[in-house]
Amino acid sequence: MSESWKKRTQAVHGGIRRSQYNEVSEAIFLTQGFVYDNAEQAEARFLECGPDDFIYARYGNPTVSMFEQRIAALEGGEDAFATASGMAAVNGALTSILKAGDHIVSAKALFGSCLYIVETILTRFGVDVTYVDGTDLEQWKAAIRTDTKAVFFESMSNPTLEVIDIASVAELAHAAGALVIVDNVFSTPVFSRAIEQGADVVIYSATKHIDGQGRALGGVIIGTKDFIRGTVEPYMKHTGGALSPFNAWIMLKGIETMTLRVNAQAETAQILAEALEGHAALERTLYPGLKTHPQNALVQSQLGGKGGTVLALDINGGKKAAFAFLNALTIPVISNNLGDTKSIATHPATTTHQRLSDEQKDELSITPGLIRLSIGLEDSGDLLADIKQALDVSQR
Ligand SMILES: *Cc1c(COP(=O)(O)O)cnc(C)c1O
Repeated sequence: MSESWKKRTQAVHGGIRRSQYNEVSEAIFLTQGFVYDNAEQAEARFLECGPDDFIYARYGNPTVSMFEQRIAALEGGEDAFATASGMAAVNGALTSILKAGDHIVSAKALFGSCLYIVETILTRFGVDVTYVDGTDLEQWKAAIRTDTKAVFFESMSNPTLEVIDIASVAELAHAAGALVIVDNVFSTPVFSRAIEQGADVVIYSATKHIDGQGRALGGVIIGTKDFIRGTVEPYMKHTGGALSPFNAWIMLKGIETMTLRVNAQAETAQILAEALEGHAALERTLYPGLKTHPQNALVQSQLGGKGGTVLALDINGGKKAAFAFLNALTIPVISNNLGDTKSIATHPATTTHQRLSDEQKDELSITPGLIRLSIGLEDSGDLLADIKQALDVSQR
């Protein structure tokens, strides 16, 4: 393995660990435990466990380790810990470092479950949280204190697709000695350069673009070797959020085609956003790749101009029109995953973000007409025709 390899090479060769049979495709080590040659070896391994040593699948497993090393290499991080889901990763990254009395600053535009962790769980354990509009650097500057332990944000927010300036927030956070923890799902491992831009910890829900084919849940925390092995691993291995070896294998095979899939999906998303912008049935067309997106300049510098695989359409006529649109679609399915090969349409106000109060929805502009559209691998012309006919139905 070479650290100088580009993402596409890491995606297929990174982290490979072959058994004595020298198999081409990654082996699934579907085992929870490992046999020791003798009692002395068991004792030694519990005392010190090297990277090629395994004890119990809650601590680590060769297939899971291959996934961890592959995604770490792809992201340009030193190490990674794989988790049972994206939420186990978000929870693990935050809870493993925080204690009562600590202060964190969080962007307020968060995925519903991320908001639950920050707003309900962390505060229940006495963590003090200051919320900011993540796109406003002045608010970050005012909120970060000398005793701030960490800052947390989604680099591209779900579902309204605000883009947050990782490098600038990291500069402010690092000046105060705070850790920068980024939920990078919407930016995708393909377009991300988050670590180079200043993130200390990068989190992915592998359920999204890494599997990308709607099969399995998974997550990962990427960071320095010290942080992953010294802070995250002890927390995760004792609290039980381990990724199953079988799901790790699905993620390994998913990563191999991720670059091709995500590039094609983002290309289609860009085509659709440009074609739909200004449509009479739409109040707003939100896509970071559009020149009219408020953070488009940042998308150029932070993500190489790629707007990602998700767009959001705010349909005139509120919930009634949004539901009519969803029910008229024939290609995108109504569901709530994203990053999948199949296009998926979601109504955040009544599903993923249903739990939010009306004031919170207002503040995040999660309006009754808002549809989140995750773009898959279908033909862009077919998708555009289908979306347009459904928009027509929505206005009847
Ligand atoms: C889906 C998602 C998660 C949670 O991932 P799961 O694998 O579903 O647990 C976290 N953050 C963001 C931004 C997501 O979109």
